[in-house]
Amino acid sequence: MFENSQETKTNLSELGEFGLIDHLTKNFAPKLTSTKKAIGDDAAILDFEDNQCIVTTDLLVEGVHFDLAYMPLKHLGYKAVMVNASDVYAMNGKATQITVSIAVSNRFPVEALEELYSGIELAANIYNIDVIGGDTTSSTSGLVISITALGIAKSEDVVYRSGAKPNDFLVVSGDLGAAYMGLQVLEREKQVFKANPNAQPDLDQYTYLIERQLKPEARKDIPPLLKELDVKPTSMIDISDGLSSEVIHLCKNSKTGVNLFEEKIPLDPAVISVCEEFKIDSTTIALSGGEDYELLFTISQEDYDKIKGNPNLTIIGHMTEENEGMHLITRANTKIPLIARGWNSMEKEEEED
Ligand code: ADP
Ligand code: MG
Repeated sequence: MFENSQETKTNLSELGEFGLIDHLTKNFAPKLTSTKKAIGDDAAILDFEDNQCIVTTDLLVEGVHFDLAYMPLKHLGYKAVMVNASDVYAMNGKATQITVSIAVSNRFPVEALEELYSGIELAANIYNIDVIGGDTTSSTSGLVISITALGIAKSEDVVYRSGAKPNDFLVVSGDLGAAYMGLQVLEREKQVFKANPNAQPDLDQYTYLIERQLKPEARKDIPPLLKELDVKPTSMIDISDGLSSEVIHLCKNSKTGVNLFEEKIPLDPAVISVCEEFKIDSTTIALSGGEDYELLFTISQEDYDKIKGNPNLTIIGHMTEENEGMHLITRANTKIPLIARGWNSMEKEEEED
């Protein structure tokens, strides 16, 4: 969705590649002392002193990962930064710099890219991240955005997916399922709009869900919170594909099993009511919905008292010996095998490893 579509439309060719890069990146003055050289040379130069450097990259393709019919470009820019920052936080690190590469067709005017970059700029400012470079090229069809994020952590603080032990508690930040249900609401509105372009949607009751879909916030606060609580997770991952898929990643990488308790899964009341409205099981949504960008981690039992009662964190299960398997314990107290079945890839029986 290109918001100021009524106003001027400047063709990309009017600026040329270098003019466009200068125009889009003019606000990206570095904020961090670790950024020695940002945009404007053949490469950026960073100095992390005695920290470990974390690197992660994500590619977003129009029609595959986003639909511009209901995704405003500013939100898309914001979300593209969040998706990457979330991966840095999942290593228990601090996100510091990003590079942004775009492939764009001339169906996009300069103003559309300005909106995309205003979202990137907003996220970079709020999350204290420097934009240090990128690449710009043309595309014959849609829009492609690739962001690479860099981050830092002390070597003793880095948390991998592989360190969970039997009896560790399984903990999740925030609540789950809202982003997926936000997408369902938006998809429904898109169909309504197609049938009747004059329909005035009343989306007030869905605000939280739509925000979680269009403007997710990565959990920048969790690594410092854990430090403050003096808890080092034994394993950690961010929730991009749905809780069950991420739990399975922790188990496989750590060679453990898990008991995940359905009744403990944190759900916002808005998710519960919209699931009733759509006649979908809210547990299924939390397990398979995805795009929550919460952090999922394990802690040793000794750390229980340190996180108990923290409003940001919920204990949802515990790890077991590998040979006990991976299970969901339902509200009815039956034990069913946990399978990864992302809603976006329902055709796949079980996620390949
Ligand atoms: P090169 O020819 O070496 O690839 P470019 O002309 O593509 O150089 O880029 C010039 C500078 O602008 C570099 O610092 C590059 O990282 C930065 N840059 C290019 N495209 C973008 C973009 N879309 N967003 C942010 N920075 C960019
Ligand atoms: Mg280039």
